[in-house]
Amino acid sequence: MPALVAVGAQWGDEGKGKVVDWIAAQADVVVRFHGGNNAGHTLWVEGEKTVLHVVPAGVLQPGTTNVIGPGVVVDPVVLLSEIDELTRRGVLKDPSRVRVSGRAHVIFPWNCSLDKARDEARKERAIGTTGRGIGPTYEDKVARRGIRVADLLEAGSLRGAIDELAAAKNRELREVHGWPTLDADELYDEAVAWGRRLGPYVEHTTPLLDRALREGKNVLFEGAQGTFLDIDHGTYPYVTSSNCVAGTACTGAGVGPTRIERVLGITKAYTTRVGGGPFPTEETGEAGDTLRAAGDEFGATTGRPRRCGWLDAVMLREAAVVNGFTGLALNKMDVLRGQREIPIATAYRVDGKLTHDFPMTLSEVERAEPVYETWAGFSQDLCGVRRFEDLPDAARRYVDRVEALAGIPVELISVGPGRDETVVRTSPF
Ligand code: GDP
Repeated sequence: MPALVAVGAQWGDEGKGKVVDWIAAQADVVVRFHGGNNAGHTLWVEGEKTVLHVVPAGVLQPGTTNVIGPGVVVDPVVLLSEIDELTRRGVLKDPSRVRVSGRAHVIFPWNCSLDKARDEARKERAIGTTGRGIGPTYEDKVARRGIRVADLLEAGSLRGAIDELAAAKNRELREVHGWPTLDADELYDEAVAWGRRLGPYVEHTTPLLDRALREGKNVLFEGAQGTFLDIDHGTYPYVTSSNCVAGTACTGAGVGPTRIERVLGITKAYTTRVGGGPFPTEETGEAGDTLRAAGDEFGATTGRPRRCGWLDAVMLREAAVVNGFTGLALNKMDVLRGQREIPIATAYRVDGKLTHDFPMTLSEVERAEPVYETWAGFSQDLCGVRRFEDLPDAARRYVDRVEALAGIPVELISVGPGRDETVVRTSPF
């Protein structure tokens, strides 16, 4: 059963896009299963930059079918503009290479406005949402009033659904937040046009995936965000509005857990976080600035500078448990070049008490003081290295230590943003 789930082990931005693009060379099908265009994957292939927010990062590999599963929330404007751009560049010649589940929920512009208005109203307790309407769209889905992609293809029944939602959303925008309202007639016309354009891409993706798995095809499930942004397992409420751990691949794509064989955890060789919320190993001074500059740590979706700090093995162990990692991809190893010493947090002290487990509550995570061990740095440029044996001794020792602390083998080491800048120890499929 060649089904592999690849998910972020930290707070997102681990470089999943690069790893997924690289693995997708061996995949037949690549599947997004949760989240929306709050994700932003940056891919560098032959010197050309591609940023994808909705279309799976497998699309640059010509042999792949790229599926947007029922668990995703889709902004049709963003999806269509990605499709247009990929078509213009000649990457996407055949619409059958992008398949969108009719069960995925649609992000309407009123939810983008509400997302921003509500976060602004939270003032200093703001979550730091991307303002892309993801959270309010999941709320509508759970409240059983959402509009799904397949509904866009049925102009008749769509009218009533849009009128009803627009009335409620406009009321909140106007009366609670004092924001401008949206015109239901215009939105209806727009939605019908989205449906017309998306039609050739819409399919019931459950049988498609079942067929692919039965035929022994390689199916790669591509996570967005990361374990500690998961709505249940992350640092709530500073999280995203969907589950993002590996188990979500089953519910979000529509495959049973018995069909997943391997789970790859993707982590940076250090840690970053965007937006609010606790971050035990954060470095707010010079060390953080150095990591930010070396790693070019600015958001692909928002351009916001990312908070930076050292690798946290307490988090990595928790991520290994909740996701069931069978392997790790250790990314951005090259960024640590030039550090005299590289600390790794192996435990926390919370109110003077030593713990090796990630704490249960947010306030405990806020009070957690990392306990570090320190490893020697390296000065060599890693970008040309392709074999583990060719890494400098200090880098190899660091990788070995990460593996021992996580209790999971490091299968891939990324030494640069380019597709080929990858050290492979075990083939993912
Ligand atoms: P994602 O959301 O997890 O895909 O991560 P992002 O795309 O937001 O951030 C990863 C950034 O790091 C992108 O700009 C990648 O091109 C870049 N990147 C990925 N892997 C490496 C690596 O090994 N070294 C360096 N220097 N950059 C990398």
